[in-house]
Amino acid sequence: MKFLCLACDEVMAFAERQLPGDGTLTAVFTCPDCKREMALLTNPMETQMITSLGVEIGGRTVPQQPMQQTRMGLESPLEDAFEAPPTPPAADGPVTWSVEATERLENVPRFVRGMVKRIYAEYAMEREIREITPEIMDRARSDLGLEGM
Ligand SMILES: [Zn+2]
Repeated sequence: MKFLCLACDEVMAFAERQLPGDGTLTAVFTCPDCKREMALLTNPMETQMITSLGVEIGGRTVPQQPMQQTRMGLESPLEDAFEAPPTPPAADGPVTWSVEATERLENVPRFVRGMVKRIYAEYAMEREIREITPEIMDRARSDLGLEGM
């Protein structure tokens, strides 16, 4: 992933990266020519997406997570990438998916489905919700700022 300064047609140089600790990512890029700056902001979902795709930010490639593991939801996300915050302790007990929620999940592109499923499952577990329904998915999306996912 690179950013181009449209005015100068120059590749913008990475200047600064911050990970505030809440899963969001801020990366600042500067045009070497006109010194214009731009910042990339991602929410926790997008940060996971970027790191799981192994995108290089600021000259460092984040270790890529095997997709199979991502699908299985076994690893904690972002492990040793950017000194990520620890995942919150999961409440005990599995989360189940209603038929309607499962059908809706089938519409999610396969390569991100496991990640999306895990995000919903974590959302439900944190709130001690036992069953994920389309209504829960809607609530999670608006609470987590994931509209469009
Ligand atoms: Zn420029």
